[in-house]
Amino acid sequence: MGKPLIAGNWKMHGTAESARNLATQLGHHRFQEDAAEIVVFPPLVHLSVVRDVLADSSVSIGAQNVSRFPNGAYTGEVSAEMLLDQGCKYVLVGHSERRAILGESDQIVAEKFRAAQNAGLIPILCVGESLQQRQQDATFDVVAKQISAVIDLVGLEKVCQSVIAYEPVWAIGTGETASPEQAQDVHTVIRAQLGEAGRSTTLLYGGSVNKSNAAELFKQPDINGGLVGGASLEADEFLKIAQLVEA
Ligand code: PEP
Repeated sequence: MGKPLIAGNWKMHGTAESARNLATQLGHHRFQEDAAEIVVFPPLVHLSVVRDVLADSSVSIGAQNVSRFPNGAYTGEVSAEMLLDQGCKYVLVGHSERRAILGESDQIVAEKFRAAQNAGLIPILCVGESLQQRQQDATFDVVAKQISAVIDLVGLEKVCQSVIAYEPVWAIGTGETASPEQAQDVHTVIRAQLGEAGRSTTLLYGGSVNKSNAAELFKQPDINGGLVGGASLEADEFLKIAQLVEA
């Protein structure tokens, strides 16, 4: 298993100044580099500000979105190579907000995953079921289908080289978290789907993770860290979550 990973998704929040302030507070913290990988995902326009502030720290940066096209006449899009050029190491693909609000299909998510990986970025593939799907006992099928769409396009080995974040949609930004057992159950199914090649693939849990619930989640055998939204906007809270995996 690789190092645990704690990722902070800042979503569409903040100004350049607030991004600089948040990054500065994180940059002051001396993370135990061997204990965990810490990565933040600022809004695209603040990437260079955050990159410069964190240049001498062990905190990595990533992007919240990437174009599925390599370059060309795609007004408003940002390519994987551009993100790499900005210093990004990771990129989120398939976040439920992009699937649900911006209409990204499994096919588009898979193409974004491929574009990111081809350019040398590490995709964090987000998957998860809606409340209705959970109530219909469709959770495992939904998650397996979202992962299969990417496997079908790039192959199993490539998916195993990425990071997968299980994020139940009903837990994102709601304050409601999957229980450690519920999360572990889905992670077990994901691990089984990846088979032998995925034994050391990093699997994250996301969905209202905070400093009070993170410890129990991170104790689960197949939860290798967290994708943190709201709680990553407060440096103290995010640092407390990160320190749980350093312990
Ligand atoms: C997320 O943005 O991926 C997320 C899990 O958000 P929150 O922690 O706010 O639920």
